[in-house]
Amino acid sequence: MSDKLISRRGVIGAGLGALAATRLRPAGAQAFPSTWTFGEVTISKVLDMTGPFSAARAFPGADLSEMDKYADMLVPWHYEPATKNVLFDYQAFVVRTPRYVIVVDGGQGNDKPRGSSEANMRKGPFLENLKAAGVVPEQVNFVMNTHFHSDHVGWNTSTKDGKFVPTFPNARYIFNQAEVDGSRANLAAAGIGVSFADSIQPVLDANIVDFIKGDREIDNGVRIVFSPGHTPGHQALSINSKGKRAILCGDLIHNPIEVVHPEWEVLFDADKEAGKVQRHKFVDGHTDVDVTIFAAHFRGPTAGKIVSERGGKRLFKMLA
Ligand SMILES: [Zn+2]
Repeated sequence: MSDKLISRRGVIGAGLGALAATRLRPAGAQAFPSTWTFGEVTISKVLDMTGPFSAARAFPGADLSEMDKYADMLVPWHYEPATKNVLFDYQAFVVRTPRYVIVVDGGQGNDKPRGSSEANMRKGPFLENLKAAGVVPEQVNFVMNTHFHSDHVGWNTSTKDGKFVPTFPNARYIFNQAEVDGSRANLAAAGIGVSFADSIQPVLDANIVDFIKGDREIDNGVRIVFSPGHTPGHQALSINSKGKRAILCGDLIHNPIEVVHPEWEVLFDADKEAGKVQRHKFVDGHTDVDVTIFAAHFRGPTAGKIVSERGGKRLFKMLA
């Protein structure tokens, strides 16, 4: 408890009124629960955008017939057999504890220069979706990026008077020092310098960052877990409230097939071997355990658990 992060501007409006707010459903939104309760903590999904990605590119060298073999697990939310694309949501999760509102990750963001990507100069309804989940930016006490890839930091900032400024003006942003250092050392790599400049640097300039080096408890049972591999400073958020457990695991897995095949190489891992090691550890440590998993890009019912079947094969079972 001694290492709790305390918002310097205090706690604003984490009350039940916000939870009871009417939920608007934007056109095309999924008809699934978008808020889950774990003891005294709730987790809400706030969608930024959805996009396809070539499975052959995402998993170089993998035997993609496995995607068809596990169609029951993957279709329709995570794989499109006709195009052989995996499907990703880009989203934030809002975690509400009795004291704090915490935003985990920030999707792609609006108005960001992203080259030929679908996210380029986008104008999506994320802030409306956030409001529909019962939260306005001023209420947020903490922002945690699982890592600094552009599809996780977008809503760290938004435009005001032609400049990128922090979207959550009263929040402390919790950055892992290794992620800051690793990104700075790689600014020349494709895309990283641009997203660092528009989504990280303005937050650093605003002096609202808590730099951490490992695990850190934010509130009772709500703990940041250092989990490097996908990137040097990747961090997950673990929740254990009144014995009910969940984990927001960022990009330790991107698609449920990685539960079956944690040994597959993943294009997006900054260090391919370290990514595999951490993924094996995550899958092994969460198989047949009563922990609900929220991966950063999972679609549809979104949340689920890793279960083993006869023969020891592991599957990702979405919550119905
Ligand atoms: Zn990602």
